[in-house]
Amino acid sequence: MSYILDIVSGKIEPRADRITLERYIIESSYITKYLSRIVKDNALAIYHVLFHLSYFQTGKAEVVIPWAKVGAFICSDQGNIIDDNKTVTRRLPPLIQNQCITVNRQRSGANEIVVHLPSEIPACKELIEKEESTLLRTEKPDDADYYTDQERRLMVLERDNRKCTYCLVDVAEDSYVLDHIVPISKGGINKKFNLVTSCQECNQRKRDEDAIKFLLSNYRAQLINQDEYLKQKDYIENLISKQN
Ligand SMILES: [Zn+2]
Repeated sequence: MSYILDIVSGKIEPRADRITLERYIIESSYITKYLSRIVKDNALAIYHVLFHLSYFQTGKAEVVIPWAKVGAFICSDQGNIIDDNKTVTRRLPPLIQNQCITVNRQRSGANEIVVHLPSEIPACKELIEKEESTLLRTEKPDDADYYTDQERRLMVLERDNRKCTYCLVDVAEDSYVLDHIVPISKGGINKKFNLVTSCQECNQRKRDEDAIKFLLSNYRAQLINQDEYLKQKDYIENLISKQN
């Protein structure tokens, strides 16, 4: 049984209370790119196993399993299977301290473990945000279509820290929209520097209005404060400057 494989093969329909395929792919890449710099070796191996048992197998964050069974997925440097409780529990502190997992309760040898996504782990989140914003500053023009490609759409959502660019409200994967800074009606295109994350409300209210003017109207309506207005204005202008 594997939730992700069943989705890929079209055997089942995606469920709203489970991880989406797109998110699963992105979070998997974050483990290699970012989390590996925070937790090392054995602890990372255990996280890998738990990530697999939770999100890959069931699509959910929770997994109930005894530690020895987690260890059974991992080989020691000498090639032995690590299948005793102690060897695994000794390697857990970095995962718990970094809030990679939460162990909710232990009962009859099994643990109820909540596996946090790399983008939710504070130290990892910080790395992601730092690097993605550096990427934004140094990136070369990219002609790819970020509007229709599902995976690229999510990259824009991550880049914008999962907030509406115009009113800074948190947006979810099933409710956000991508707004064209320069509207299509005025020659705007689907490149990433012309796209920002937006809530549905702002997107509908903005229509073909100029992005900075619209941001100002949100400030006047007290949806954002002055600091936020200036910061977001900079952000949008930075994106616009990359369009050429
Ligand atoms: Zn908004």
